Amino acid sequence: MGVFEGVRKACAPAVWSRGIELVRAEAVIGERADASEAVLRISTKGGMIARTVTLFLEDGAWECTCGATACEHAAAAVIALKRANESGLALPSPSGPVGTIAYRFLRVPGGLAIERGVRTGEGFHAFETTLAAMASWPWAPTGAGRSRGRSRGSS
Ligand SMILES: [Zn+2]
Repeated sequence: MGVFEGVRKACAPAVWSRGIELVRAEAVIGERADASEAVLRISTKGGMIARTVTLFLEDGAWECTCGATACEHAAAAVIALKRANESGLALPSPSGPVGTIAYRFLRVPGGLAIERGVRTGEGFHAFETTLAAMASWPWAPTGAGRSRGRSRGSS
């Protein structure tokens, strides 16, 4: 597997072991893969930052959106891909069983909005959602806040 060896040789040992840590933390998501190219997304900092690594399997080349030639993202990508190949299990995908639907609050002008996404391990991957779609959700911010507490039940 040319690209695996290539990344491994290019990475300093410390960078390589950070890649292993990312794989252990389930930070690697498989976006797509075919015979010649694999695209993986690696989230770091608890999902706040996501890097996309493209592996050119036939050329033994790779690139990462962080801009570094050899980085822990590329290391994590090749390690995760190798493990997936060896175990016969597919990489976790954004819609795969590893992720769970999750929501988080966002502060927006005029109140709070809810962002929907997929949580995998420590990562949160927001769905790309238009503001219009968000506004149509029943829990979208409205001027009138819901009254606090339940009305007093009698019994
Ligand atoms: Zn990178």
